[in-house]
Amino acid sequence: MENTGVITLIHGHILTMNSTSDYYSDGMIVIRNKRIDYVGPFDPIKVSGNVFDATDKLILPGLINTHAHSGSALFRSLADDLFLMDWLENYMWPAERFQTKESAYIAAALTHLEFLQNGITTNADMWYFPESVAQAVLESGLRTFICSTIFTKGSPESKDTLGVAADFVEKYKGRSEETRIYPAYGPHAIYTCSQETLREVAELAKRDHVLIHTHISETSGEQKTCLERLGMTPSQAMKDVGIFENHVLAAHCIYLSEEDCEIFRESQAAISYNPVSNLKLCSGILPLEKMLDNDICVSIGTDGPQSNNSLDLLRDLKMGSLIQKNELKNPRFLPAEKALRMATIDGAKALGMEKEIGSLEAGKRADIITLDTNRAVMIPLLDERPASLYSQVVYAASGSNVCDVFVDGECLMKNRQELRVDRQYISKTAQEIAKSSIKKNGL
Ligand SMILES: [Zn+2]
Repeated sequence: MENTGVITLIHGHILTMNSTSDYYSDGMIVIRNKRIDYVGPFDPIKVSGNVFDATDKLILPGLINTHAHSGSALFRSLADDLFLMDWLENYMWPAERFQTKESAYIAAALTHLEFLQNGITTNADMWYFPESVAQAVLESGLRTFICSTIFTKGSPESKDTLGVAADFVEKYKGRSEETRIYPAYGPHAIYTCSQETLREVAELAKRDHVLIHTHISETSGEQKTCLERLGMTPSQAMKDVGIFENHVLAAHCIYLSEEDCEIFRESQAAISYNPVSNLKLCSGILPLEKMLDNDICVSIGTDGPQSNNSLDLLRDLKMGSLIQKNELKNPRFLPAEKALRMATIDGAKALGMEKEIGSLEAGKRADIITLDTNRAVMIPLLDERPASLYSQVVYAASGSNVCDVFVDGECLMKNRQELRVDRQYISKTAQEIAKSSIKKNGL
């Protein structure tokens, strides 16, 4: 089978994740010109082009990870079991100081290899060295919002992070059809960006019509310090300088006040829920019910490999779902289907991409994954009961069940064989660079 052109997937169990939750037990998808031309019951008359037999496979929209830091993959497991500020100030930021564009590239390539293996077809990334991340994206073929990190004090790459971000946006804006890159601004947080920097970001994002991706209210300390310093919560302080006049995607948001929720609702800003990173750093637990009651779009993210330490969105979905149930002492909260929406269509909404990706519907881009249902963990597959299939995906499956991955109708992984990226080269090079950098820099 060629990995582009007209492709027909036949005989799979299809969870479309569309607004009516359509499910086909013997389904079929025809892909033409990067998009889904047909999705529905198997119909032999409609079979066309290269045929892909999806018997014994569950077919889903590609997963959408709305918060990651690709360049931090080389710091995975370097420092753990610490509080956020101790971890950042004494371990992560010192390690980041030694990063180069070469090490940022191999870290991003490693992150993308892991995304691919775990069925993540779209991600929102926040890192420095956007050109290094772009190189990894062009090689991996995974749809990526590259949100250049902005720090008022500068980064290992440049003292002028805003300038780097603006140049990157200028270079890649409007080129996603050929590159799968969506440039955006990534002001790190209220405690690393001055009000003046944030004001400039707000103006640039408005001029360029691009996303702002940031961290908001990750810890109670952040909330308290901001109130003491500026007399406002982080959300209010960002609103004050115009950030929320743009499309905002904010990670964490654990400590939003009622007024902050109002800011999110009014501006239709979205949240990336990062349950594993929040648990590991003991930052707290997102009050998800309150966010949903406020009609705020909540998607899900892994956060970086330095704070997770894996990029397995299905595993995080299970964890994120279970802790919410336990917090509320209500197992009925967040049924599996609703949870899976966070990793698919709600992720697309968070990125302003819901007309393009996030569900399997005719006209949308063919971003598709399959899960192998022959694995012990997926048996029995009660294919006449869709509710049980959502449970299988959220509570039983993990990234290791992902079998095939398509983006824009291009097959990037088939039967767990990567078709574009060189797994051995990336793994070996990342290993060597991580070890030598840690040794050389006394980390
Ligand atoms: Zn983060």
